Amino acid sequence: MCPSCGGPLGLMGTLGTMDHWRCRNCGQQVNIERIKTMHESITIERILPMVEESMFGESNIGICLDCGEEQGSCEPDATGHHCESCGMPAVSGVEEILLTLQA
Ligand SMILES: [Zn+2]
Ligand SMILES: [Zn+2]
Repeated sequence: MCPSCGGPLGLMGTLGTMDHWRCRNCGQQVNIERIKTMHESITIERILPMVEESMFGESNIGICLDCGEEQGSCEPDATGHHCESCGMPAVSGVEEILLTLQA
């Protein structure tokens, strides 16, 4: 909603983590920061076995923070890798995700 007149907002574009909106009523521009949230399927319970596997085994698993899909051959401390599933640069290594979840 527009802070000035309460009119409906239309999305103009996105720059980084900022969404640029414009009021359809009075034309005022509003910038709203998008908070980066992880996909709801990503939990410590899901991540922990993968972290152990990447520490003691051969597999390097990453997970897309955007869609929650698993990706193979991803360094444990990687961030911002390209997701083969949804195309977003949102794949992180499982160790990196675990640190974020525990923070
Ligand atoms: Zn307005
Ligand atoms: Zn994805």
